Amino acid sequence: MHPRSAPQGGTLMPNVSIVEQTMRQARRSVALTLAGAAVLTALLLAERLWSSHTIAAAADRHAMAHRVAADLRVTEQQLLQAAQAAGLTGERSWIDRYDRLVTEHNGVIEHASLLAPQAVTQRYRAKTEAAAAEIARMRASALDALNSGDHVAAKGLFDGERYGRNAQLLREANEELTRASQRATYEELVVLRQRSLYATAGVLLLALGMGFGLWRRLSRGLDHSRGTLREAEVRIQRLASSDLLTGLDNRAGLHDAMHARMARASAATAGTDTLAVLMVDLDRFKPVNDRNGHMVGDLVLKEVARRLSLCLRQSDLRARYGGDEFVVVVDEREGPGSAEKTAARIIERLAEPMSFGDLTVAIGASVGIARFPADAVSSDELLRKADSALYRAKQAGRGTVCLYDPRQDEVLSERHNLEQAIREGIAAGQFVPYYQPIVGLDRRNVISLELLCRWRHPERGLLTPDKFIAVAEASGLIGPLTFALLRAACQDMGRLPPTWRISFNVAPQQIQNEELVPQLLSIVREAGVPPERLDVELTETALVNDTARARQVILGLKKAGMTVTLDDFGTGYSSLAYLAEMTFDKIKIDRSFVHTLTERPESAKIVDAIIGLSRSLGVETVAEGVETELQAAMLHRLGCRLAQGYLFGRPVPVKELSDRVALARNTMAPLPAAHGDVGSRII
Ligand code: C2E
Ligand code: CA
Ligand code: CA
Repeated sequence: MHPRSAPQGGTLMPNVSIVEQTMRQARRSVALTLAGAAVLTALLLAERLWSSHTIAAAADRHAMAHRVAADLRVTEQQLLQAAQAAGLTGERSWIDRYDRLVTEHNGVIEHASLLAPQAVTQRYRAKTEAAAAEIARMRASALDALNSGDHVAAKGLFDGERYGRNAQLLREANEELTRASQRATYEELVVLRQRSLYATAGVLLLALGMGFGLWRRLSRGLDHSRGTLREAEVRIQRLASSDLLTGLDNRAGLHDAMHARMARASAATAGTDTLAVLMVDLDRFKPVNDRNGHMVGDLVLKEVARRLSLCLRQSDLRARYGGDEFVVVVDEREGPGSAEKTAARIIERLAEPMSFGDLTVAIGASVGIARFPADAVSSDELLRKADSALYRAKQAGRGTVCLYDPRQDEVLSERHNLEQAIREGIAAGQFVPYYQPIVGLDRRNVISLELLCRWRHPERGLLTPDKFIAVAEASGLIGPLTFALLRAACQDMGRLPPTWRISFNVAPQQIQNEELVPQLLSIVREAGVPPERLDVELTETALVNDTARARQVILGLKKAGMTVTLDDFGTGYSSLAYLAEMTFDKIKIDRSFVHTLTERPESAKIVDAIIGLSRSLGVETVAEGVETELQAAMLHRLGCRLAQGYLFGRPVPVKELSDRVALARNTMAPLPAAHGDVGSRII
């Protein structure tokens, strides 16, 4: 998978319109089908009606043709009989009957002519005209003969060869006419039946055609809808697998892509390392985000995504894994070490300042690397191991790359357990305050106490901070821990002389908490302790990471009435600039200088310089880790006013302190006005 641009407008979902469109199309097609079916049924019905009607009429005509043929034969017979009877009897009534029969006979012929084709009728007329006229003339002559009583002549006429020939001709012509009419009506009937068949077939074909057309239309519509839905589905899948802000893959997309890559890589080259998973975590992103708002945070993340892409090949996977965590998967077959090179490039690129308008921010990145298949063969494991390598990189200092080391897992799981135990310990009140006195070197009187944390572990007993503070700091638990401890200390303060102040440690990570000062204030106010009794110890690390923020916090604390001490001075960056720039009340000379003070002349020189500098800045100095009288004396001589160390007292719970105070009060009555006098005696 390669980086995808963030989706741009358009329909992102297979929204209602697509489904509705399909439904509309289907409905339209069904309506059309129904309309088509109705039209076709009507057509078919009309055709059936019409053809049954015309066929019935044709059948009638055909039957009629048969009847007419029979009638004609009968009238012919009767005519002949009437003619013969007239000749034999000479009675006029036969002539009359003959005349009637001729009329009737002509009517039948007329009927037959109507049923026969016109051409046949014309031919018939032409053929029979002369014979009919002859017979009519003979009938008139016979009538004349009968009228004059000569029925022999009449008989002779009807019996004569002329009459017989003409009658025969007429009979034959009649026969032909009726046959033609029968044939014509029969043919008409056949044609009509055929036509009806064709019409039915035509309507059925039309129905078939219409059905096919509609089906095509519907399936085309459905195809279109299916296409649109599939497109939407692909888009949704892509959205589901990509990070909306950066357009890179998200976790889901990364896992899918990693599976595919790993399958391909293991098929290609079994056994050798082929893929490297780089877990990239941004340094200092949270303060940038907290300080400048999420809009700027988003811009930074987008810029990170862009810079990542500049460091990678087109084919490398890149994903946003969490808030400020990114994952890159590179194919290492192009040469070993390419993962480390890529990591170095990424770190370099991300360390370059980013500008957004007037605002310039500087972040950085740490990278952990795990390899496939050497370190793990599943995407989950690879990511977990890259993460554990990243953890080590972060611990080693920012802007570093670490490769996964199997021994790490153990450490990590221990760390995880410890983290969990700390969390539970805070809730269970297992973290308790211990106090170590800070004394004035000239009178050895207690000026204040440093609040130091101890863990009353249910199984492991009393634990000192070196066992848990680092993990608490790294896991974000230091805040809750400090607040819980301060709450307990505020309770204790009621049992201590009211002039004793308390110094407590604030970790560098806590500086980033915008709510730090208000939260501290609300704790002391709740306990009714004046903030003036509190002193906050900050280490140089807190200043270096984010000077602007540190200055803000220091000012906030001082405004609230607290004092601020620079702890462990000389161990870190020891930038004298901070001293001049930030208004500390005190500087604590780190115990490493105190320990070597009497043995190493350089230490003495450094301590001397620190004290001199502080004095010129108007800042108090406290020496920590004072264990011997020699050290105390030397510090005093150098001008250090305050000290802390085993020489004056180890960190103890409040009970021990208050007991000692009470003891001092009882034994040293009357109690001196200055608290220092009590303090000096309790140590
Ligand atoms: P730190 O702030 O420098 O505290 C002084 C440490 O030096 C304490 O160690 C104290 O017991 C030890 N110490 C005092 N006098 C002597 C001495 O004469 N010789 C020697 N060798 N050590 C001496 P502890 O209590 O083990 O604390 C260690 C560190 O843990 C502290 O160093 C501080 O950085 C951190 N810490 C302790 N409590 C807290 C806390 O509540 N919050 C935070 N953020 N850090 C804490
Ligand atoms: Ca301290
Ligand atoms: Ca210290």
